[in-house]
Amino acid sequence: MWSTAREIAPGDVVIIWLTRDVIQPLLITPGKDFNSKFGHYRHADLVGIPYGSKVGSRKGKGFIHVLRPTPELWTMALPHRTQILYLADIAFITSHLNIKRGSRVIEAGTGSGSFSHSVARTIGTAGHLWSYEFHEVRASKAREEFARHGMDDIVTLTHRNVCKDGFTITDTVDSVFLDLPAPWEAVEHAKQALRKDRTTRICCFSPCMEQVLRTVNALNDAGFTDITMYETLLRPLDVAQVPMLQPISEISEKLKQAERKREDKRLKQIAANRRNASKRKREEDGPGADTPVETEDEASSKRIKTDDEDSTGLDPESTKAMDLDVDALPASTSASASAFSAPEPTLSPAQSISPAKISVSKPFTPPAEPEVLTEVVTPEPQAPVDGVVGV
Ligand code: SAH
Repeated sequence: MWSTAREIAPGDVVIIWLTRDVIQPLLITPGKDFNSKFGHYRHADLVGIPYGSKVGSRKGKGFIHVLRPTPELWTMALPHRTQILYLADIAFITSHLNIKRGSRVIEAGTGSGSFSHSVARTIGTAGHLWSYEFHEVRASKAREEFARHGMDDIVTLTHRNVCKDGFTITDTVDSVFLDLPAPWEAVEHAKQALRKDRTTRICCFSPCMEQVLRTVNALNDAGFTDITMYETLLRPLDVAQVPMLQPISEISEKLKQAERKREDKRLKQIAANRRNASKRKREEDGPGADTPVETEDEASSKRIKTDDEDSTGLDPESTKAMDLDVDALPASTSASASAFSAPEPTLSPAQSISPAKISVSKPFTPPAEPEVLTEVVTPEPQAPVDGVVGV
């Protein structure tokens, strides 16, 4: 459908990816410039570079990505002449209509060609798409695009009012897709176009329930069976917004370290208080008093004992000093300590249990539109239409 060469050549259609929301097609025409708020680029400078390249602007401030078109990218980048189908609907409809390589398909109307590009890729040159559009300007724009994208062999576009004049083929296609304001008016024509030697399908795409009801009636009247209605919803979750979750073991280890640090500090304070107390006592007793000076080792052996036996061995002064000092510990230390006794608050239930609570970005699809999908089982070629039965 599009260039399969590794490098970009003059005349290629490329997709310029500026941001997630600003994606646009570009026909490479040496001599022309591409200007955007992300800088200025010469088409000629893009010739010869590999598809997928990140290209810096001429002034070196901005950059763009130059991508190879796909139907998915085309849907995101195409010039809108109408409402279009997006990926969720396209994939769902393609699947339910059983469109595959070699399928023969009808679509009406062509609109902006979003669905057409995807179908063309799926059916390939072994299949064929008959596309109908009654708006002349849209029809000719779409025809130009199909030609530029090398889809001429796969798509036949006809400027026609299918509700009034029907389709140009009979007993030919495997499936029909109607994206029209009044699809019920084209149901009988669609039946004529569907092949009669095997099971075939039709999908009518409508945003309003009133349209769906009228279509269902028309499908019933025309003898279609297995009529179903679906609503497709796409709910993208923005993984970039999800905070990295720390494993519980890491969090627990950090809390333990904080607790150890706090305990060390507390023990040091107790030792210092003891030293001060004995120093004061020596001073009070006067020179020559027979009070042994406590060494660091002695203090530490005592402090372990003191710690284990509650702090009743300390004199009231030193207890007071210790209490004050503990209160003066940095806020972060006490916060870690309280978190240690109840680690859960560091991970909210939403983070730890269900990804469904993760913030959800705006859905990419336009408002959901109900669809009617049905399958028609047609009788043997000569059988009367009344003989149509369900599977
Ligand atoms: N599916 C298309 C969008 C189709 S919009 C896409 O994905 O791009 C609907 C189109 O149907 C419009 O372009 C409108 O001009 C065309 N249309 C409406 N009534 C029609 C009719 N009776 N015959 C042919 N085309 C019709």
